[in-house]
Amino acid sequence: MKFSVLAETFEKMEKTTKRLELTDHLVDFFKNTPLDLVSKVVYLIQGKLGPDYEGIEIGVAEKIVIKAVHRSTAIEVKRIEEAYRKDGDLGHAVSKLIEQKTQTTLFDAVEGQSQTVEWVYDTLFKIAELAGSGKNVVDKKMNYIASLLNNVDSISGKFIIKILIGTMRLGVADNTILDALAIAYTGSKDNREKIENAYNVSSDLGKVAKVAAKDGLEGIKQFKVIVFDPIRPMLADRVKSEKEAIEKLGKKFAAEFKLDGERVQIHLENGRVDLFSRRLENIRSYYPDIVENIPKSLKIQNAILEAEAVAINEDTGEFLPFQELMHRRRKYNVDKAVLQYPITLNFFDILYADGKSCLNLGYEERRKLLTKILVEDNFSKIIPQKVVTNENEIEDFLENSINSGCEGLMLKDLQSPYRAGARGSNWLKLKREYRNELGDSLDLVVIGAFFGKGRRTGKYGTLLVATYNDDEDTFPSICKVGTGFTDENLDQFYQILSNKVTLKKNPRIISDMEADIWFDPELVIEIVASEITLSPIHKTAQSTIRKGSGLALRFPKFTGKIRMEKSPENASTDQEVIALYKGQTKITREID
Ligand code: ATP
Repeated sequence: MKFSVLAETFEKMEKTTKRLELTDHLVDFFKNTPLDLVSKVVYLIQGKLGPDYEGIEIGVAEKIVIKAVHRSTAIEVKRIEEAYRKDGDLGHAVSKLIEQKTQTTLFDAVEGQSQTVEWVYDTLFKIAELAGSGKNVVDKKMNYIASLLNNVDSISGKFIIKILIGTMRLGVADNTILDALAIAYTGSKDNREKIENAYNVSSDLGKVAKVAAKDGLEGIKQFKVIVFDPIRPMLADRVKSEKEAIEKLGKKFAAEFKLDGERVQIHLENGRVDLFSRRLENIRSYYPDIVENIPKSLKIQNAILEAEAVAINEDTGEFLPFQELMHRRRKYNVDKAVLQYPITLNFFDILYADGKSCLNLGYEERRKLLTKILVEDNFSKIIPQKVVTNENEIEDFLENSINSGCEGLMLKDLQSPYRAGARGSNWLKLKREYRNELGDSLDLVVIGAFFGKGRRTGKYGTLLVATYNDDEDTFPSICKVGTGFTDENLDQFYQILSNKVTLKKNPRIISDMEADIWFDPELVIEIVASEITLSPIHKTAQSTIRKGSGLALRFPKFTGKIRMEKSPENASTDQEVIALYKGQTKITREID
């Protein structure tokens, strides 16, 4: 299949933001895609070359791409740079230049060369494999890129560049692809759940797509938990009070300490260990101490477990704030960081044991199994747990947990299986701060900024932040936030965000504000606020509560937590804000 055929579909998809239309384009395309290409196409649609956990990064610098464009099209570098400055999107700017050139050059106008999808994918893969920034490597990258762009047609060129520099954003969330796979390969959207189950245990949309295309539903049903394929994590709903927890979970359930660290999914098979984060990136290299300890900590040889890694003060045994762990996220001198920022590993679930999936076992059985196979020591521990039956018991255990330096409690249904990839009320989180003011903190995406004055001159003094709307795959603004920042935070934000500046507002951002500067929606930060109010300006949950109004946060404040382990699609959703808003009005009414 020619890459230009795929690029034409990308072009159509780029022109719409409606989920149903995107799904239709995908369904049409999947139906005509040769079987052996399906997985590659699925990755390319999302601007990737493989599942996230494989960590294949293309990320070529714009400078190199511009030079390669010059080499393969003979368009002057200055002209490319100028077009890019005006347009704000390098792929689009180059595509326009190629178009102009083909209109004026007889030779090129005959037909732009189009490579096959397979060849483009393989060449991109070779580029991603080239590590380092030495001259040799840069030259090789440049040669590959120039070959990709040699005589390329304008639309293919646009998307090849977008994939190369990491700005391929067609607005296609995982959910849209799952819908399209169900329709294209099983004939009905009703099978979406089965396909999603396959995705939940493999975390690899490309693999799921390939099996669906080849073997339909029968193949999809064969998906099993496999060690070293990460499982999408089970997530919790929030509750504001002990009373609400009892309303949701009944008379008897488990309460566990909720530790404030990093969630780690641990895979072990015959001595080999791999580790995945909350967003399923491979984090093995940051935690050599976990890798070393795991085989000693377990009485079985094959397992998948979940634990919270928490930074500690080794002298006192005290838990330290989550932020300490971010020092571990480095490429070099990890051994030093391991000594400087010691951790304990606190287990709370088991998903696979000795050749068998545990996902369908009830919570109690999994906890029993976990207790049985774990060898506790100074490093590995099981998270404290108590079965509770009334408000007082929950209250006491919550107090206990806060006194031990935890954030609150996780409350879990005793019979519930492990529902991979799902957020629901079988697991609830009760934090201390939930019980006053707005309650929970929100994880919001930084989409823009306003320049600072005084002490903040030259930095981003105020940030514009957004929720994630998972129906539309967009980032609607919810508030401006300018408090809670230390000088160190301001420097950190500048360092991180200056790489994400875009000349034009990213089309996934929904906001009427005139920010001084816009960012690609990538960075997630934690915000607390006193209240959620209706807003004529902000766009979260637009027209859901009241026609023409969105929801906004009152007195928002940064908590100091940059949520490096969260992708923008893991940020707080419009639905979560609506739930908090409704909970808040209910309580006000109760007080009234
Ligand atoms: P979410 O994971 O629900 O999107 P989040 O990442 O902001 O939200 P929290 O709201 O703090 O996390 O709550 C869930 C997280 O709490 C889990 O992802 C896990 O990292 C952590 N956690 C701490 N203790 C436990 C426990 N006992 N059981 C389950 N998770 C726990």
